[in-house]
Amino acid sequence: MLEVKNLQVYYGVIQAIKGVSFRVEEGEIIALIGANGAGKTTILQTISGLIAAKQGEILYGGVDLQKIHPHKIVAMGIAHVPEGRRVFSQLTVYENLLMGAYTRTNKDEIEETLEQVFTRFPRLKERKNQMAGTLSGGEQQMLAMGRALMSKPKIILMDEPSMGLSPILVEEVFDIIKSINKSGTTVLLVEQNAKKALSIANRAYVLETGNIVLEGDAKELMNNESVKKAYLGE
Ligand code: ATP
Repeated sequence: MLEVKNLQVYYGVIQAIKGVSFRVEEGEIIALIGANGAGKTTILQTISGLIAAKQGEILYGGVDLQKIHPHKIVAMGIAHVPEGRRVFSQLTVYENLLMGAYTRTNKDEIEETLEQVFTRFPRLKERKNQMAGTLSGGEQQMLAMGRALMSKPKIILMDEPSMGLSPILVEEVFDIIKSINKSGTTVLLVEQNAKKALSIANRAYVLETGNIVLEGDAKELMNNESVKKAYLGE
């Protein structure tokens, strides 16, 4: 479904991504784990067309996404839940959700998706007219996920959804990710919480300073000694 080949990304003269390759198959949850600054966010932003790669390919259904405008990438079925949620704080929950559907035109279908999002996130329905900036961190994360779902994505890129959330909310957010995946959406998940990410992923890639250093079945990586030491705090 999504195949990244030899991706190289620079910020000025600094090379942040040094030739990364990985693939995401339809229906999977793929985790990309790694420490601060490893390059996880950069990879997601490059897939979404927000940053230009210097080299490599990002193939989605066989089409190279580079040179395709970010809004077209969304319309093609790739949604991004950014790090730090980035909700529009001066807009209501409802308006934020509608923003997520900006690439769609059929009003009835948008309304139908909105109902599905409200069913998945009853808290958002209750707070439909509340300003997004006044939501709690957990609610903002749910809004960011709901907003992404409004584009009816085939694949959803999630950047550190657990960041800054209490343990109970982290559980809730990961349950939601599992259920979004169960209803047919492929997930590429970037996380510093490697334990949780590996617990829900099918496969995972470990990123260190712009390189993938390990990859494999998520359960196997959980039992890998170097992963345990470096990322699972064991
Ligand atoms: P975190 O978990 O802290 O978000 P990350 O794995 O997502 O980390 P990135 O944010 O992708 O890492 O950063 C990768 C590298 O690129 C880091 O060394 C970072 O300092 C650098 N970097 C990121 N954004 C910029 C930028 N706009 N200008 C210059 N360097 C940048």
